[in-house]
Formats: sequence, structure tokens, C-alpha cells
Amino acid sequence: EPEVVKVSILNEESIILGFHLTKFMLRDILSNIPSSTYVVITDKNIAPIYLSKIITDFEKVASKLNLINTTKLRLITYIISPGEQSKSRDTKAEIEDFLLSKACGRDTCILAMGGGVIGDLAGFVAATFMRGVPYVQIPTTLLAMVDSSIGGKTAVDTPHGKNLIGSFWQPKRIYIDLMFLETLPEREFNNGMAEVIKTAAISSESDFINLENGVSSIREAVFSSPKRNVQYQGAILATRTPSQSLLLSVIMTSAKFKADVVTHDERESGLRGLLNFGHTIGHAIEAILSPELLHGECVSIGMIKEAEIARHLGHLNQVSVSRLYKVLQDYDLPVSLDEKKVKDLVGKKFCAVDKLMEIMKVDKKNQGDQKKIVILSSLGSTYEKKATIVSDSVIRKILSP
Ligand code: NAD
Ligand code: ZN
Repeated sequence: EPEVVKVSILNEESIILGFHLTKFMLRDILSNIPSSTYVVITDKNIAPIYLSKIITDFEKVASKLNLINTTKLRLITYIISPGEQSKSRDTKAEIEDFLLSKACGRDTCILAMGGGVIGDLAGFVAATFMRGVPYVQIPTTLLAMVDSSIGGKTAVDTPHGKNLIGSFWQPKRIYIDLMFLETLPEREFNNGMAEVIKTAAISSESDFINLENGVSSIREAVFSSPKRNVQYQGAILATRTPSQSLLLSVIMTSAKFKADVVTHDERESGLRGLLNFGHTIGHAIEAILSPELLHGECVSIGMIKEAEIARHLGHLNQVSVSRLYKVLQDYDLPVSLDEKKVKDLVGKKFCAVDKLMEIMKVDKKNQGDQKKIVILSSLGSTYEKKATIVSDSVIRKILSP
């Protein structure tokens, strides 16, 4: 039995965290989400590393539970191309046609194993297949672990914009298995850390201090793991190191804050808007610089700009802005559109202030024409328990060079 940590969301203990959870997870799923067909939906990067273990463990666990001969139980898999382009209506239809060709019915359970692309897409498939079937989130990126797998927002993109077609559909379980981080590219890890830092900045000074003090330990937990070493022979760590315990607690705390916000505000009215710290400006930057810059990288720059707005308005002091700046840099995240790393990635693209203002104007989270920004009052707390309306002139002033 692996040691697991449970977090509740919407009054159920459905978020489960730990290391090497595959067997535990399959035992739980087969016992508590009884279905005849389980469908793993994953992508071409993840499948070659993790799919065979899921398949062999499924056979083992099913036979231990005496499920093999008594039911017409099966596990099938569907593998899509990685990347945001797959989060489309076309890919959704392809998956649905696959499920129908395999005679999947209402007693189908979907296992979404991947980053946010897989989670949002497979979750949306689950939401509408046979008017809705149960699904489980198995996040494999840090961003998916602390953000996209939690909250039940599912969607696909359209040429008119991201996430425009979707629904709220809660997963039965969210298994946050930190083992997956062993193979996650470093840039993707940093991308997820932007959301972790964001959550600490709006919710808890002590969590923020843990991130400031934990830089080397947290990075060691992820980047010195055996799988990153070519000599790795498949051995698993019997005991947790102190740095792994820190990593687990940091991810748990971040996931728990999102889960608590969702529990109090499932359909996104006020409170859930706090999670948008750094995102009003970050999204506008992302609209221009994606895909060269990742979401978390844009949010990192957005957090600095929005913290500068809070300072300009007299709600946040300069020391706090500087600490935010330093912690983002320590986790290798960009803090300005002018830095070389950003320029090298985006080439000729640039973010004109007028263009950023124009994009923010049509942001669906705004109230009419008024732009809303989460204003920090210190590291760990916000000026209001929701985003604050900020005038165009203030935003323009901070964005201007
Ligand atoms: P992603 O799903 O594109 O994954 C990033 C890359 O990492 C992919 O190439 C993937 O194949 C690879 N990968 C994933 N796990 C791996 C692993 N363990 N080892 C090696 N490679 C691995 O990106 P993401 O950042 O996880 O998710 C972004 C998506 O999440 C966006 O579509 C965004 O809209 C969505 N999102 C949704 C919510 C929500 O509430 N539903 C919240 C935030 C973001
Ligand atoms: Zn985000």
C-alpha cells in the first residue's frame, strides 16, 4: 500500500496524491467506479512511457479482485497527438467515433491520462458521451496536477478562441501521482510552478516563504530522480526523501486551495476569480505570444505587471513586488517581455500596449468594458476577495515602457 494523501473537493475526498499510485488507483477505480469498459485516453509522448504499466497492472488488479471471468471487463486505449491543436472538435469527434466503433455504452469509464490538453478534451468527451459517463483525471504535468485537473471545467478550442465550447463535468477521482514528474521536460515543470507561485501569492504568506526557501530542494526532488538518469533500471524509491516530501506538500497545498475555491464557487462567480491573479495581463500576452511562450510563462510576466499595478494603487509595497520577481526568476520563469530568453523565443513578435489593451477589452471575464485584475495587498493576501476593477489609464501606464 503506498502512503497517500487525500484532499476533498465538493465535499468528497476525491483528490488522491502520492508517488507510484498505479495499482492503488486501479484497485480503487475497479472497486468504486464499476464499469464494463475503461478507456485510457492519452498522448503520443506519454503512452510509450506509461501505458504498458497501466495495462499490465490492470490485468493483475482485475484478476486479484476476481473480475476477469465474471464480467465482460476490458481496458482499451486511444492515443492522440500531443499539443493544443488536439484540443479540438475534430479530435473529440474522432474519440467518440472510436468509442462507438468499440461498442462502448453507458457503462464506460474514461481515464484521462495526460496534461491539461488531455484532461480538458477527454473530460469533455466524458461529459457528452451517452449524455455523460464517469471519468477520472490522471494529470501528468505539474500544471494539470495543481490546476486543470481540478474543478471540472472541460472544453475544446475553436478558431474563434480557446475553451469556447465545453461544460462543467466533475471527475470521479483525481489521482496526482508525482512519479509522472520524473519525465516531464524542465520547461513544462517551470510552467506549472507559475500556477503554484500564483496560488501561494494570493493565499498564504507561509506557503510563499516555503517556495522562496525550497527552490533547490524542490528542483532536486524532480530533476535528480532516477528516471532522468540513463542508468535507471526500473527500481522505485522505497522511501520518500525530504525533498520529495516537500514537493508533495507544495503540490498538495496548491491543489487544495483550488479545490477549496471550487467547492465554494463551483460555477465561477466571484471567489474563483482570485485564481486569475496574473491572468488578465497574462492571457493578453499569451494571445500574442502563444505558442512560443507557454501559459505559465505569460502568467509569470502577468503577475509582475499586476503586482506593479497593485503597488501603483498603493495596496502593495515594493519589497513584495521584488520578492515575487525573485521567486519567479529562481524557478526559471520569465519576469519581463524585454528579457533575452523571451526575445529569443518569440522572435519578431511583440506586445504593443494598444494591442494588449484591445485583447483585454474582449476578455470574457470582464464586466462590460471594465477590466478586472486581482490586486495583492501583501504576499499571501488580496485587496478584495475577488478581482478588482482597474481603470484603463492605470493599466496602460504600467504596461507602457
Ligand atoms: P499539455 O497537456 O499540452 O502538456 C504539455 C506537454 O508535456 C505535452 O507535449 C505532453 O505530451 C507532455 N507531457 C505531459 N506529461 C508528461 C510527462 N509526465 N512526461 C513527459 N512529457 C509529458 O499542457 P498542460 O500545460 O498540461 O495543459 C495546458 C492545457 O490546460 C491548455 O489547453 C489549457 O487551456 C488547459 N487548462 C485547463 C484548465 C481547466 O480548469 N480545465 C486550467 C488551466 C489550463
Ligand atoms: Zn493559468
